[in-house]
Amino acid sequence: MRTEVAIIGAGPAGLLLSHLLAQDGIESVVLETRSRAYVESRIRAGILESSTVDLLDAHGLAERLHAESHEHRGIYLQWPGERHHLDFVDLVGRSVRVYGQTELTKDLGRARDAAGQQFVYEISDTAVHDIETDRPYVTFTRDGEAGIRLDADVVVGCDGSFGVSRTAIPERVRQTWERTYPYAWLGVLADVAPSTDELIYAWHPDGFALHSMRSPTVSRLYLQVDPGTAIDDWSDDRIWSALAARLGHGQDGWELTPGPITDKSVLPMRSFVMQPMRHGRLFLAGDAAHIVPPTGAKGLNLAVADVGLLAPALAGLLRKRDATLADAYSDNALRRVWRCTHFSWWMTTMLHTTGDPFDAQLQRSQLTWVSSSSAAAQGLAENYAGLPIGF
Ligand SMILES: Cc1cc2nc3c(=O)[nH]c(=O)nc-3n(C[C@H](O)[C@H](O)[C@H](O)COP(=O)(O)OP(=O)(O)OC[C@H]3O[C@@H](n4cnc5c(N)ncnc54)[C@H](O)[C@@H]3O)c2cc1C
Repeated sequence: MRTEVAIIGAGPAGLLLSHLLAQDGIESVVLETRSRAYVESRIRAGILESSTVDLLDAHGLAERLHAESHEHRGIYLQWPGERHHLDFVDLVGRSVRVYGQTELTKDLGRARDAAGQQFVYEISDTAVHDIETDRPYVTFTRDGEAGIRLDADVVVGCDGSFGVSRTAIPERVRQTWERTYPYAWLGVLADVAPSTDELIYAWHPDGFALHSMRSPTVSRLYLQVDPGTAIDDWSDDRIWSALAARLGHGQDGWELTPGPITDKSVLPMRSFVMQPMRHGRLFLAGDAAHIVPPTGAKGLNLAVADVGLLAPALAGLLRKRDATLADAYSDNALRRVWRCTHFSWWMTTMLHTTGDPFDAQLQRSQLTWVSSSSAAAQGLAENYAGLPIGF
């Protein structure tokens, strides 16, 4: 098999990249270990920054998003006895949209089907070769046939946090930074109308809680738990009663309405950044190069921003034989990656309890500051609603 760009991974980064490349007349093949049904039903992110929406709009990918997503002007920040609304539109003139990653993945997949995109699903043994030459290739196994070879001009690793692409960059040039947090999230999806119009981020002595949503009838809620938490220790009743306590059920007449839980998972919290995001003819985008804890709602948006920089860089390299943007890709992408890594760490450490009373006082002071000073609130709003792609 031969193509111009071999894309490893059919998550949001890989699908969006294949779309943007095709708009520049560049052919690609997308390789994926999972089945399409699995990829499209994987429950993950749900908040789109304004710059993500703008990019999808500019490339004709946002029709259903505009019809079915919900615009949020801001978020609520709360701690026992207090709830404050931060209005991003008033603060920085931008909003966010609630739209499940599952829906975005389906939209991207349909757009690629309509354009005749070539996908190879359910592969294994993916390996990347000869990236320091201008004839790189990928090998994989499919239907029991090993060593199938896809030759390309460029290989892009969009294969997420457990992918193999980044290990193809030689250790002598690879640098990584990592932080594992001493807490995790227990996330649930519930068939019940959200009890709030916008997300509630709650600091509580028992631990952080977040009330998010996917649609007018589906709520997404999270509880801070210990990293080793066994999901079986958390009955539905225990989850709802912890959520009620931490989210302030009864506070100023606000009520949390429980409902049937349809999905439960424990999500570890980790920050990870690798550089460079390009070596030779291999480029990385999205979770393949960086992971953020979900508190700042940045993971999916960062994947989109990487692709927003990478697509024109590859068009320059492959169509105009101009390597300027391709050579600058890693530095340009990492500037935004580190901004989002810092913001995600900052939100995480402000809201998650550690058991240390000194930390708790600092957190309360910071929450009070962010909720009462427009200068501080603007910083949160600017980062949450999203800096421009290319920042
Ligand atoms: C459980 C979970 C919950 C999350 N919740 C949130 C959230 O609430 N908010 C938020 O902003 N972000 C969240 N994220 C992060 C967000 O979902 C990711 O940042 C986003 O999916 C990144 O997109 P991506 O395309 O880079 O990677 P992915 O979506 O991970 O896609 C990578 C694709 O590559 C495939 N792949 C992997 N290895 C190979 C291989 N060797 N060969 C071929 N294909 C391969 C995978 O199957 C996958 O389909 C969550 C992530 C996880 C794991």
